[in-house]
Amino acid sequence: MQQTKQVQDYIRTIVDFPHEGILFRDVTTLFADPRGFRMAIDQMLHPYAGERIDKVVGLEARGFILGGAIAHQLSVGFVPIRKKGKLPGRTLSQDYKLEYGEAIVEIHDDAIAPGEKVLIVDDLLATGGTCGAAIQLIERLQGQIVSCAFIVDLPDLGGRKRLQEMGMNVHALCS
Ligand code: 5GP
Repeated sequence: MQQTKQVQDYIRTIVDFPHEGILFRDVTTLFADPRGFRMAIDQMLHPYAGERIDKVVGLEARGFILGGAIAHQLSVGFVPIRKKGKLPGRTLSQDYKLEYGEAIVEIHDDAIAPGEKVLIVDDLLATGGTCGAAIQLIERLQGQIVSCAFIVDLPDLGGRKRLQEMGMNVHALCS
């Protein structure tokens, strides 16, 4: 009998992308497979069954694909956090460090009401820089973050530890 495939079996690794020496975990093959995608969404939702969540926040860009499906499943609203200059309305901005240089992410300043329970969603947790900036934006709007949910955690890069030190719950389907 064929072994049941797990979420990680649908993810492929691309060598030297986007730079030499990087192993890029490509989740588009997971998204493209009907069973793989459904399994990933179901498993990402599983820890929050019965919990109050008011908004799902997705991080650009693969977090939009996951976050949209999860928000729909929970019948709650979806909020994007985008790279600087992409959101049309009034925004809050947060900068964070990259390996070389800095990046800025933004959220609409009316996207989350004070006290709303928020689930943050992205495909992959590496250093935690991106998600850390998202947490700061949501906290500046006085949202209450229930958890940060990922498909992949790369534990050697320290993101999980960093988010836990910010007081976050962190869930990932594989590492
Ligand atoms: P961090 O800010 O935690 O260092 O990096 C995580 C962000 O970079 C996420 O938004 C994620 O989409 C992207 N990222 C970094 N490395 C990879 C990778 O190997 N695969 C994928 N799919 N995304 C990555």
